[in-house]
Amino acid sequence: MPRAGIVTVVGKPNVGKSTLLNRIVGQKLSITSPKPQSTRDRVVGIYTTDDAQMVILDTPGLLSPRYPLQEAMRTTARRALDDADVIVYLADATEGNPPSLEEAADLPSTPRAPIVTVLNKSDVMPESRRVEPLSEGAVVYVSALTGDGITEMMAKIAERLPESPFLYPEDEISTQPVRFFVAELVRETVLEQLHDEVPYSVAVQVEEYREERSPLYVRAVIYVERDSQKAIIIGSKGAQIRRLGEAARKKIETFVGSKVYLDLWVKVLANWRKNPGSLSRFGYQLATGKGK
Ligand code: GDP
Ligand code: MG
Repeated sequence: MPRAGIVTVVGKPNVGKSTLLNRIVGQKLSITSPKPQSTRDRVVGIYTTDDAQMVILDTPGLLSPRYPLQEAMRTTARRALDDADVIVYLADATEGNPPSLEEAADLPSTPRAPIVTVLNKSDVMPESRRVEPLSEGAVVYVSALTGDGITEMMAKIAERLPESPFLYPEDEISTQPVRFFVAELVRETVLEQLHDEVPYSVAVQVEEYREERSPLYVRAVIYVERDSQKAIIIGSKGAQIRRLGEAARKKIETFVGSKVYLDLWVKVLANWRKNPGSLSRFGYQLATGKGK
């Protein structure tokens, strides 16, 4: 009997969750950025070997709730923990021994699923500083950046999965619609090209996606919170949005494997991060107080 199940990757912002997921799935699925909190959605990757299949969730980090967007992220992360068959608790090795997951995530109870504690960024930590971590269960040092330790980590995860037939066809790398990734690539480009307060005010929606056209036609809207941010994104005589569009188009072309016409727009949706209606429109789950 093969093994199969849901593997939830959880950890503080910036510990390398997205980098690890990309390393495992071998294709760029979840955006990575040196800025913390860039992942807001659950991104599902699927990793299949001869005898095991992992459906991997990248959670948006466990943050203390401060404003509605962060609360939505936290709710999403907790749901992902409830759904997990194996939890990968990722921490930064250079920060020393991590607190237990229950403590770090302020969980009401110990999760049902087995936990594999993974200490990342071993490439920037001398071997001599490795300690025997106190946490119970499996512990493994890895570098998501260089790939070091990933094979051992995958083996530790696989042996903890339940016996089960595969959940998805073997060649399927992701259950998320392509449009979602296209929107993420546009948002990643905004994070790369713009700094200061603009990036966190940005949400991207793909409003039209026409595969039957050649080149493939994508209309995407960048939503910001204020007119001043819209002006920054457009730039002088439209120079900034042209630069964004060109870089994002190249990434989308690599992702979908064909020529793309990217029709990029900017719209203001005042204070969308504080508005439950807008948050749910962009796919963020809101805390309901009812659990799952
Ligand atoms: P996330 O917020 O947990 O999803 O973290 P990201 O995957 O976006 O990574 C945050 C930052 O840490 C990025 O600058 C990554 O390049 C960097 N990073 C991730 N994994 C490693 C690693 O194994 N070694 C080193 N040196 N840097 C890493
Ligand atoms: Mg991330």
